[in-house]
Amino acid sequence: MIRVNGSDFHAGVPEDWHVDPVSLGVPGVRRPETDDEANPLAWQVDSLCAQTDPEAFFPEKGGSTREAKKICTSCEVRSQCLEYALENDERFGIWGGLSERERRKLRKRA
Ligand code: SF4
Repeated sequence: MIRVNGSDFHAGVPEDWHVDPVSLGVPGVRRPETDDEANPLAWQVDSLCAQTDPEAFFPEKGGSTREAKKICTSCEVRSQCLEYALENDERFGIWGGLSERERRKLRKRA
C-alpha cells in the first residue's frame, strides 16, 4: 500500500476489475447451467426490456405504456414474463406486454 495525497493507494489490479455479463444478466448471455427452479427469474437473461429504457416499463400513473408494450411484442420470453408476473402477483409495471389492470382482468377470467 502506498500513501498518495493523504489517501491509501493499493497498487495492482483490483480483484473485481472485470464485468461478468452472466452475473449481470446481459441478454443473450446464458448461465452455463440455468436451473429454472432454482432461479425463477432465469428467463430475464433474454428479456428485451433489459436492453432498453426500464422506466418505460414502469411509467408514472397515467403515463404511456405504448412503447413498453411494443417492445414486449418482440420479446422471446414474453410468455415466461407474463406467467411470472401472474404467479407472483406483480402489482406495478408492464410484464409480458400487459399492464397491471390487464393482468388483473386476465386473472379474473382464469
Ligand atoms: S415481455 Fe416485455 S416486460 Fe417481459 S421481459 Fe420481455 S420486454 Fe420485458
